[in-house]
Amino acid sequence: MSITIGLDIGGTSVHALALDTNNTITARANYPTNSAQGIEVFLDATQQCINTLEAESGKDLQAIGIGCTGPVDYQSGIIANPYTLPGLEGHSISALLAERIRVPTFIDNDANTAHLGEIHTHPNAPSNTVLLTFGTGVGVSVRVDGELFRTPGGVHPEMGHIPISIHHNPPCYCGRTNCAENILSGNAINKYAKHLADTTAEHLLTTQDGRPFEEDLVIALTDVIVTFTTIFHAQTVFIGGGMQDFFEHHLIEKTQRRLNSLLPIYGKATIEGCRAKENAGALGAALLARRGRSIT
Ligand SMILES: [Zn+2]
Repeated sequence: MSITIGLDIGGTSVHALALDTNNTITARANYPTNSAQGIEVFLDATQQCINTLEAESGKDLQAIGIGCTGPVDYQSGIIANPYTLPGLEGHSISALLAERIRVPTFIDNDANTAHLGEIHTHPNAPSNTVLLTFGTGVGVSVRVDGELFRTPGGVHPEMGHIPISIHHNPPCYCGRTNCAENILSGNAINKYAKHLADTTAEHLLTTQDGRPFEEDLVIALTDVIVTFTTIFHAQTVFIGGGMQDFFEHHLIEKTQRRLNSLLPIYGKATIEGCRAKENAGALGAALLARRGRSIT
C-alpha cells in the first residue's frame, strides 16, 4: 500500500496529511507558512514535514498534491500574487518540491482542493455546488454539472473579490472598499470588531452592541451567496476555512433565513459547514495527487 500527501497552504499556516489507498488518513501535521522568510525556508519546512508524515505512515510516498491560496497557475505551479503569499510569488512550489522529493507533484487553488475533499465526504453530493473558504482571505470554488468552473486556459477565477453592498475602509489591496474579502475574510472581520469595540469578533457578537456588526456580516454573506446561486444555481453552498466555526455559530442560520425569503430567481441553496472541516483542503490535495493530474 502507498500514500499520497496533501498540503493545504494558507496565508498563515500549512495543514498537511497523508492518505493511504483505503482513504485512511495515516498522519497529519501543521506548520506556520512564514512565506515572508522566502522560498528556501518554506521548502525546507515543507520537506521536513513530508519526510515526517512518510515515516509516521510507514508506507511509500506515491505523489504530492498541493492546494495553494491565491492565484496559482495549476500547470506551471507559479504563485502569482504577492499579497497572499509574500515571498513565494514568482516561484513554482510544485516544480521545486518535485525536484527535492523526487515524486510527481500537482498543485491547484486551495478552494478547489477543499471542494474536491468535501465532495469526497458526500456520497450523494448535488451536481452544482459552491465552496466558500473564509480564513486569511476569501476563497471560492464553483462546481457545475460535477466539474469545476474555470476561466479560459484553465485558470481559477479570483472570485473572493466580487462586489457586495457593504463598504469598509481602508480598501482591499484589489483597490475597492466593497470587495467580499475586505468584509468577510478572517482578517477583515477581526479588524472591524477591533475598530468598533476594541475586542474580538467572537466577543463582540455575544454582546448587545454586536447586532449591527452581525447584521453587516449576514448581509455581506447573503450578497456573496446570492451572486453564485443566481448565476450557477448551486444546490449546496459549503462554508469552510479557518473561520468555519465562527460562521457556523453566528452567521449560517441567519443567512439561510434571509436567502429563503428571497425570490426563487436567486436560487434555493442549502448552506452547510464543511463536513471535512479543517481537513478538506489537504484531503482534496491528497486526492488530486492520487488522480495524478490536475483537477478538471
Ligand atoms: Zn479585494
